[in-house]
Amino acid sequence: MNFLEEKILQDGVIKEGNILKVDSFLNHQIDIDVMRQMAYEFKRRFHGVEVNKILTIEASGIAIATLLGHLYDVPVVFAKKSQTANSTDDKYVAQAYSFTHKKMNNVFISKPYLNATDKVLIVDDFLADGQAAHALIDLVHQAGAEVAGIGIAIEKGQQKGGSELRAEGVRLESLAIVEEMDWQTQTIKFREQPVQKIANQNLKLK
Ligand code: 5GP
Repeated sequence: MNFLEEKILQDGVIKEGNILKVDSFLNHQIDIDVMRQMAYEFKRRFHGVEVNKILTIEASGIAIATLLGHLYDVPVVFAKKSQTANSTDDKYVAQAYSFTHKKMNNVFISKPYLNATDKVLIVDDFLADGQAAHALIDLVHQAGAEVAGIGIAIEKGQQKGGSELRAEGVRLESLAIVEEMDWQTQTIKFREQPVQKIANQNLKLK
């Protein structure tokens, strides 16, 4: 079991409707040590892959993306879900259905922040049906840039996002993959993954 699976078992709450709540360390309060370990583990898994930009989607992906950007020493960009009145920039726009909010969102990035020379590592907190990931891939392609890979903290393996992305040939790394979970018994089963080196808790970023 890796550090993230342990943390999910310790602090996660399973809700009816196939929702895993991890508010205490990822979606509301942010546990910086867990974020730091995730950033190290992504960097280890994507070793040898050229990356010059980290991309995520607001809001919960931003914390992981920021620590990862610090580790790679590259800019972090987040796709926005609502138009800001004071933005006059030209934008790349894609659509994503929100699994948690049950509505279609336009997601966008101002054109100056994605370029054709970018090799983009996409990161997000959860992967469910793959709507957010596909919207981010779409935005990267609109800019003529390249997707270097996708790093996900928690993949819900019972939903189709992961298998679709892998079938499309995307390099996808999910730190914890939920195989089954039951809200009534509060039990969860993770997919076996190759043994991971647990990042040293005392390691400093850089
Ligand atoms: P997808 O776009 O892959 O269908 O869903 C991923 C997005 O929905 C993530 O960005 C995440 O914010 C949200 N999400 C999906 N499933 C869950 C879940 O079980 N728990 C939480 N906290 N967020 C989820």
